[in-house]
Amino acid sequence: MEERRLKLSYSSVSVYEKCPLQYKFLYVDKLPTIPTPALSFGESLHSALEWFYSGDTPHPPTLQQLLEKLDELWVSEGFQCLRADCHGNEIDQEEKYKAHAREVLTAFYYANAPNFRLPLALEHRFSLDLGEFVLTGRIDRVDRHPDGSYEIIDYKTNRRLPTLDQLREDLQLPIYQFAAGEIWGITPAKLTFYYLLPNQRYSTGGLDSERVEKSINRIREIAQRIQEGHFQPSRNPLCPWCDFNQHCPLMAQGRPELTSLARRYVDLLRRRKLIDEMMSELAERLNDLWGEDLPHTIEEEDFSLCRVFSDDGWSYQFIESKAREEIIEKKMEDETPTE
Ligand code: SF4
Repeated sequence: MEERRLKLSYSSVSVYEKCPLQYKFLYVDKLPTIPTPALSFGESLHSALEWFYSGDTPHPPTLQQLLEKLDELWVSEGFQCLRADCHGNEIDQEEKYKAHAREVLTAFYYANAPNFRLPLALEHRFSLDLGEFVLTGRIDRVDRHPDGSYEIIDYKTNRRLPTLDQLREDLQLPIYQFAAGEIWGITPAKLTFYYLLPNQRYSTGGLDSERVEKSINRIREIAQRIQEGHFQPSRNPLCPWCDFNQHCPLMAQGRPELTSLARRYVDLLRRRKLIDEMMSELAERLNDLWGEDLPHTIEEEDFSLCRVFSDDGWSYQFIESKAREEIIEKKMEDETPTE
């Protein structure tokens, strides 16, 4: 029977470096993961951009075509529908993400359509036999510039930008440079992380061969540790969000109630974040609608929504609670019959 080869990619190596046990749950035991909005959002943007560059003419599609394609390729897994909004309207988390994805693609379009050219490669999957293991991956895009030089581009859909130290230690770019050499026999002049949310590129020149070799050796060591069965848990700041924390000896330790409460807590934290975002959007809209006289922020603790009568008839307004009490007191005094 053919021996099953160990396959390692940038993602699986990163998981192992963060926590070997999480790697085992995910890649050896293949336990199911929970779909998240962030993953679906990222996948949808990647698919839309793949389509954007995959035509056979040197002219870009229109923005409208790109946005329609986004709708068509949208991944709906992992979104929750929250019923909120003070008007009783349903606010859909998926719609919110989709609107954000449209904004991101619009900014990308205006920055990139004017210099549009067909890439050398798009979403290129590779699988390289390195003896002890197979190095796999997917390169988002390779551009060939008019001067004949090459640029490898990787799209990122996370919010947080990397620090310089993280970029120096990162394995992804060396892996891509190595793969480009093996697959096409080229050395890229530029390697770019394209952060789609802020529409910002982080580029570096081609890496020296020593850095590439060091990175490949780092992966070789990890391959050896995996083959020897080293899967110890490693507590880290992302443990509360780990899909497998109910299986993890560090987290559960025979206390299922604690685990279940921890999961509910994290779930509520996520929901609170979403509600906070909705609240600030609503406050902005209220501020816009109410014009200059409205205070800059509406603190629900300090304000009450009241029905008031003015020259224009009845309307609804937030009134500072203290002021409201004074008005009521005064009204009661006025209405109290004098002897
Ligand atoms: S909960 Fe933390 S320590 Fe446990 S497997 Fe997940 S990442 Fe590793």
